[in-house]
Amino acid sequence: MKKPDLHEPSLPLKPCSARKILLVDDSDFDRESIIRALKGDRTTHYEFQELETAEALEKHAAAFKPDLLILDHDLPALSGLELLKQLVAKRGNLPFAVIMATGAGSEAIAVEAMKLGALDYLVKDQLTPERVREVISRALEKYELQRNLVESRHLLEQSQRRLELALSSSGLGIWEWDIPGNHLYCSIETERLLGYPPGTCSRPLEDFSQRVHPEDLELRMIAVNTAIRTRISHQHEFRISLPDGTIRWLSEGGRATYDFLDNPILMRGTLADITEQKNTEENLKAALVSRDEFLSIASHELKTPLTSLRLQSQIFLRRVKRGDSSVYNKEKFIEIVTHTDRQVSKLNRLVDDMLDISRITSGRLVLEREEMDLCELIQEILQGGMSERFNLAGFPELHVNLPAERITGPWDRLRLEQVISNLLTNSIRYGERKQVEIHVEADSSHVLFSVKDHGMGIPKEDQSKIFDRFERSVNASEVSGLGLGLFISQQIVIAHGGSIWVSSAPGQGSTFFVKIPRDITVQEVGEPLNRVAV
Ligand code: ADP
Repeated sequence: MKKPDLHEPSLPLKPCSARKILLVDDSDFDRESIIRALKGDRTTHYEFQELETAEALEKHAAAFKPDLLILDHDLPALSGLELLKQLVAKRGNLPFAVIMATGAGSEAIAVEAMKLGALDYLVKDQLTPERVREVISRALEKYELQRNLVESRHLLEQSQRRLELALSSSGLGIWEWDIPGNHLYCSIETERLLGYPPGTCSRPLEDFSQRVHPEDLELRMIAVNTAIRTRISHQHEFRISLPDGTIRWLSEGGRATYDFLDNPILMRGTLADITEQKNTEENLKAALVSRDEFLSIASHELKTPLTSLRLQSQIFLRRVKRGDSSVYNKEKFIEIVTHTDRQVSKLNRLVDDMLDISRITSGRLVLEREEMDLCELIQEILQGGMSERFNLAGFPELHVNLPAERITGPWDRLRLEQVISNLLTNSIRYGERKQVEIHVEADSSHVLFSVKDHGMGIPKEDQSKIFDRFERSVNASEVSGLGLGLFISQQIVIAHGGSIWVSSAPGQGSTFFVKIPRDITVQEVGEPLNRVAV
């Protein structure tokens, strides 16, 4: 263990590492002069390595790791200047501080060396210890500063990159508007949001204004100008039109800074894409509107038969009170009862539909399968209430094309009846009293059932949406309806493992197709299913 030295200062000195000097000079005398001068410096401790030629300079430098290279220009093989040029060409910069040593009258060489990155020069014939110490400590200091500067620039760039990364992963763009120069500086994310090619970060403000949707331009200008005038930050939303034609919603915030005369000089702000959020809002609004529409249609549908029933009974009572004996007339009585029965069954259908919707949406639609004959079911439907509808005066002619053999399968009789009745009812309601055709065909695995009418038809854009809840075709507005029947039918068909679709053209009628497997294990593939998430 080292004994304590009583002459050592009582306060420990901050350890200072030695400055390493690499001397490349073929003159022993010059090298020694420099070393002696530096050793005389009591404030700094130096370590030296001496080389007589520049050969293998890089290898020695790599091992010794000098802080400073003192390079004689007049070396035997390669001049100091040439060597410097080679170093710069190879590495792009000098890895240590360099001082060029030249003879008197060679200042031009020294200047040349400094252009290449040397920090100073020593004129050999005028070497004094003070001059040597001064030049070397100044060069080391300068090099240290340069290195710190490069390092901090590097750190700055690094943190800028990290900030950009963080901003772009958060989807937040940054911008700066040079107000007097009318120029906009954008971060990478802002460029992306505005659809500018990357790296074009500075642009005239007009470029940006051209991106803003024409309908939102004025409001945005007002928001920005008000923010500048009132010195508070602004926050508002606007649309932009991107070069590929898409429209996005952006949310913008910004605040201005002012010079000492109170002139606004700069505005800084952020941009974020809020298109998804806006779409959700729009969908929510649309859902609320469709819910309100549904409630008003549903209450209308409920009220119409109820009002009609009330009117009928009021008239009936009034007549009874007046002693009008015609109310006891059999025909009149039958008419009233038939009307009442129709209104009540309409109400029943509506209530059934509502219950079905609630079953489907809560996943409670369960089939009660039984082996049954489809053609028999169709016959029953046609002979039941449906025939009455088809047989009304002026009503459509009905063509039924059923195969002779039995078409059987494990289906839910009541549910299939519901689908077929709905399609037939629709063919009457939207069929404009023209001919209706029912067609059934089957192979060993599937049965295909279709109802064709020659009525108003359905525009292409409505053909898939009519299978959604509460959706109706634009040209059906004259006919009352809730848009529930096809949705329920589709869910029933899907539950059977089948599919339902329509082929139609406005003014030319519609054909609704239902295809279901005849075996419970067979599932439909490849048909145009208009399925909806329930
Ligand atoms: P609703 O008839 O009560 O409105 P549906 O769900 O049965 O409900 O039908 C949805 C929509 O599909 C109808 O409103 C109508 O626009 C259209 N549609 C259904 N069947 C036909 C058809 N045969 N011809 C023309 N449009 C039809």
